Order: sequence, then structure tokens, then C-alpha cells
Amino acid sequence: MNIAAQSWERREATSFFHTFTDLPSLKTDGPVIIDHGEGPYIIDTVGRRYFEGNSGLWNMTLGFSERRLSDAALKQYQEFPGYHTFFGRNSKPTVELAERMLKLAPAPMSRVFFTNSGSEANESIVKLLWMMWAAEGRPERRKLLTRKNAYHGATVMASALTGKDYVKAFGLPGPEIVTLDCPHAWRFALPGEGDDEFAARLAANLETRILQEGPETIAGMFAEPVMGAGGVIVPPATYFAKIQPVLQRYGIPLIADEVICGFGRTGSLWGTLAVGQQPDIIVASKSMSAGYFPMGAVMLSADIDKRATAASEVWEEFPHGFTTGGHPVGCAISLEAIRIITEEGVFENVKSVSETFQSGLRALADHPMIGEARGMGLMGALETVADKKTKQSFSGDLRIGERISKEARDRGFIIRPLGSSVVLAPPFISTHGQIEELLAVLKEVLDVVYGTVK
Ligand code: PLP
Repeated sequence: MNIAAQSWERREATSFFHTFTDLPSLKTDGPVIIDHGEGPYIIDTVGRRYFEGNSGLWNMTLGFSERRLSDAALKQYQEFPGYHTFFGRNSKPTVELAERMLKLAPAPMSRVFFTNSGSEANESIVKLLWMMWAAEGRPERRKLLTRKNAYHGATVMASALTGKDYVKAFGLPGPEIVTLDCPHAWRFALPGEGDDEFAARLAANLETRILQEGPETIAGMFAEPVMGAGGVIVPPATYFAKIQPVLQRYGIPLIADEVICGFGRTGSLWGTLAVGQQPDIIVASKSMSAGYFPMGAVMLSADIDKRATAASEVWEEFPHGFTTGGHPVGCAISLEAIRIITEEGVFENVKSVSETFQSGLRALADHPMIGEARGMGLMGALETVADKKTKQSFSGDLRIGERISKEARDRGFIIRPLGSSVVLAPPFISTHGQIEELLAVLKEVLDVVYGTVK
């Protein structure tokens, strides 16, 4: 390791406070500090090249060197470098992006506003719903339905909506959150229960829970079409078809959190279409700007738009917004990213390489250490088990996910550990060859790690 590179690691160790980072692994393996990118590869400060098997955080879908996005940014910076959308102001790319999003939306949507992130988008929706219900004379409609293992972000309410145990670190989720079953059939279906029966049971549980809480206390339900950070949980095919009538019966809006799934990740343009969601509100982020600018979007159905507008009139405004939400440069980049994905073969590529990816992943389910290989489109997960029959997980102390990821990283592939699973989300521009290499390395790495635990 050359001296300059060592100094990057030392400099980071004494200056940078890592979040969402496994501290024991950071201690033993050190950070990876990236110097530059080429297509789906990143190259670190000591010249090691990695295939980014997670597209960064699911978002760098067009890779790390898409000149058209940096050119779009530069052009917009030179034309009009930044503005806001408060006080009735706006800029041209922001309006154009709003129109484009509505045209592409998977369900009829009426209007849209922009944020800087997925968390901010979800946070904004909570405020919008609370304001809306209160203005309609239902201020007690404050509870939010979410699901075990959901991930909706890191701001306070978005963390509260996140169905992971770690939110206890912050004294969350708090009294306004109602956590429902995780729709993971392989893990939670009863013995002999088929996918459809499992979905029916979850819908019945949902109704029981709504009645226990009091339907008049519930503001909305958040749901990712396919859960991402919860471990790429694809719900049973009839899950949303079964739970949506329950929500409709009690007037509970459904919010589709498409932060990961939106713009092609599932092999459909929207996850909503892949799983049969009929949302009232849709959140997008990540692929929307291909990760080249912090962007989030909230799309509102005609009904919610009308009601939220009426509620805003009570206060003479929706008293909410972010300085850089709808930033013209972010919108110009997003317009170009969406053009590249939808009009220039990238989405077609996703559908094509997804077949290689999903069939290769499924083949790894035969490995003695793999309990379930699952996924949809270009998102997937491998869940390890100590015992294939009982589905018993390995002890957390073995840090299986971390070890698989470390072995892959040593071979030039970035994949993400998640407890005793690993999660994959290759860039949309990946070739069949790159996907095959990723799968071959996974197989090799599973053999290596299995050799240490069998
Ligand atoms: N919602 C989902 C489904 C996500 O996966 C994420 C981030 O991974 C978020 C919301 C939060 O987005 P951000 O990290 O941009 O705030």
C-alpha cells in the first residue's frame, strides 16, 4: 500500500464518523475509499477495482461515469444554478420533471413535489397526512401502519416507520406506529400454508389490527412494493390484492415507497406494477437521478391532491418544504437519467440481464449453506441457514453475511451483508458477462465460508 493511500485511511479514521457501518468490520477490514468510477466499477485509492454489486446504495443505476448526467448538470449549473419552490417560485427543469413523472407514474397521479431524499419524502407524507386528516375534522387519525423489516429512511418519522429492531436505539417507533407482519412467506408462512393462504392470513391480521387500534385513529399505510433493506422480500403474488380492500374499507391511504423499486429495479418500470399495488401516494428517489444528485419525489393521487390542497388552504399554505427540494440541477439530471433509462435501452437491458441474474441466484439455493435465494429484476438476496430443514439461522457471532461480503470484496466484488444474508442490486447497465462473473464469485465465496462453518 503506498504512503498516499495509507494517509487517506488514516485521515478518515481520525476525522470521519461513520454511520450505518459495522464497527467491528471497519476495525478489522478498514474503509474502502473510492477514487473514481468506470461504468459499474469503482476504483479505490490504492487502485483496487470493484464491481459494484449493490449500485452503491441501490441508486447508482447508470454506473459511475455517465457523461450525459455530468453534462446535464454542467449545462443547468451554467444556465441557472439553483433555486427553490417556496412562495410560488419554481424553475423550468423542476416543472418539466413534474410533468415527466406524472406521465410515467404507474397509477393515475395528479401532482408531485420534490425533496432531497427518500427519508424526506416519507417524512413529508406523514406531515401531509396529519395536516389533511386534522383539517377534515379527524385529528385523531395519526397512526401509521408499517411492516416488520420495512425500511423507510433515517429521519425521525422515517426511522419510526422502519420495522427494524435498531430503531429502539432512539426510543422509537413510538406510540403512533403500528407494525404489521412481514410478508415473507419462506420465513413466516405456517407449515403447509401456501403463498395465497399466507397472504389471506396477513390480510385478516391487518383487519384485526385495524379494528383493535380503531380505524378512526389510522392515517395511512406505508409499504415498499418489494422490501429492499429488509432483505429483498418479494411479497406473495396476491398479497397487495388481499390487503388493499381492507385498507379501502377503512379509508386508509396506501403509500407506495418506490425509493428502491422505482424506475426499473424490479424489472418492471415501477415495483407497484410488479406487485399489483394501487397506491394513493408514491415516493420515488434513488434511480430517479441515478444517484448523481440527492433527489426524492412525492406523487399524489387526484383525491389526496384535492384533500391536501383543501387542508393547505386552512393554513394558507402547506407549511413544509426543503431549501433545495426540486433543485433545478437535480431535476435536469433526473430528466436525463429517466430519458436514458426509459428511452435508450437501459430498461430493456435490465429486463434482459435480470433473467441471467435471477436464474443464477436461484441456482445458488442448492448450496448447502443457502436457505433461500430470492429476488425480482435486478434485486436479490441469499439467506444463509445453519440447517436447511429447520431454516435455523447461523449464530450472529459468526457474522456470516459480513464474511461472505469480505471474501467477495477481496475478489473485487462489492455486495452487502445483512445479518446472515447478503443482498445484491447490480447497476442497470451491467452486462450478462458481468452478472455471470458476480454469480461465479458468489458461488466460490459461499464455498469458502461454508468450509469454515460446516
Ligand atoms: N425508502 C426506502 C424503501 C429506502 O430503501 C430508503 C433508503 O435506502 C429510503 C426510503 C430512505 O432514502 P434516503 O436514504 O434517500 O433518505
